[in-house]
Amino acid sequence: MKIVLDHLTKKFPSRNKKEHGEVTAVGDFCFEIPDGKLVGLLGPSGCGKSTTLNLICGLLKPTEGKIFFGDDDVTGLPPENRGVGLVFQNYALYPHLTVRKNIQFPLENLKGDAKLSKEEIDGKVYAAAKLVQIDGLMERRPSELSGGQQQRVAIARALVKMPRVLLLDEPLSNLDARLRLQTREEIRRIQKETKITTIFVTHDQDEAMSISDLIVVMKDGYVQQIGKPQEVYDNPVNLFVAKFLGTPPINVFDGRVKDGMLYIGEDVVLKAEGIPDQEVHAGIRPEGFVLREDGPLHLQMSRLEVMGRDVSIVSGHPCCQSETIRSIIPAESNVDPASDTIRFALKPAKVYLFNKTTEERIYLER
Ligand code: ADP
Ligand code: MG
Repeated sequence: MKIVLDHLTKKFPSRNKKEHGEVTAVGDFCFEIPDGKLVGLLGPSGCGKSTTLNLICGLLKPTEGKIFFGDDDVTGLPPENRGVGLVFQNYALYPHLTVRKNIQFPLENLKGDAKLSKEEIDGKVYAAAKLVQIDGLMERRPSELSGGQQQRVAIARALVKMPRVLLLDEPLSNLDARLRLQTREEIRRIQKETKITTIFVTHDQDEAMSISDLIVVMKDGYVQQIGKPQEVYDNPVNLFVAKFLGTPPINVFDGRVKDGMLYIGEDVVLKAEGIPDQEVHAGIRPEGFVLREDGPLHLQMSRLEVMGRDVSIVSGHPCCQSETIRSIIPAESNVDPASDTIRFALKPAKVYLFNKTTEERIYLER
């Protein structure tokens, strides 16, 4: 089922009593989510992710705009008639009910044609439990389960009615690091098996990048960029997106374009043909540095960090907007950690320029 968001907007009265204005939690969100895909909705806390999800499931009414599931306009439908499955950060299981009863809950009290026999209910509950691999724990109560297992029960409960759309709001935030990794793979597997169109909300770029078919990067209620994770990483449209994606993060310098060349401090680091003279933000991905004895960029060496396959050189430069610069180079490179200065050439495809004021991308000729 494709989902269409058509100029979706939600404004709230400002919580700050002094200013009588409104907060635009979601502004003019237009997007067609393709059928059967997993979309990661990504952005910092407060950027409007949960509001978007709550609009899609019907817990909130939009101020403007429409929502379609397939060709159906669902904007006016109550949540229970939309066919959505919801999973939240706090699993919100019923503590006094067993796993079986928790999963079964949405199937009880179905009326009319939708009413199910005991056998049908048992079959659906078992299928959902098996999908999330919790079918061995059916008679336990939530307090007898780990966090990861509880979240699986919550996912099974969201899936038991075979929703048209699955919505997950930071579902992994309460899990420890290892379980987070494991559970996100599980969610991906389940989504691929069921082919249910899924929206996965997270503030964790790594999480969104690793499991999504498409990511939507949001800031202050507005969509910044939509695309395949790798495309957005390789081609950020503005400084915010460039900084939000990638670990270690992109290194941002105060740069200057003069006579078709990019300067960082006194170093002339790259050609910037066709770009008018101006101050710029110059972003360099950690993998964009190439060790070279005669490289144009001089950095002050702080230390080396070995990360297994790669080595991270931690260095500094007066024009860098953060204290440290991280560059990643192959482990077999020969670096003297005792040297003061280290010199790099830059991979042009890993260098991005942004307008000093608008922070929009300035495209280099490649
Ligand atoms: P996220 O899930 O990305 O952290 P939210 O969608 O929860 O962000 O919130 C987006 C913005 O809308 C925030 O500025 C938040 O304070 C505001 N907001 C959310 N819900 C309400 C509400 N019920 N009343 C007023 N403001 C709200
Ligand atoms: Mg939220």
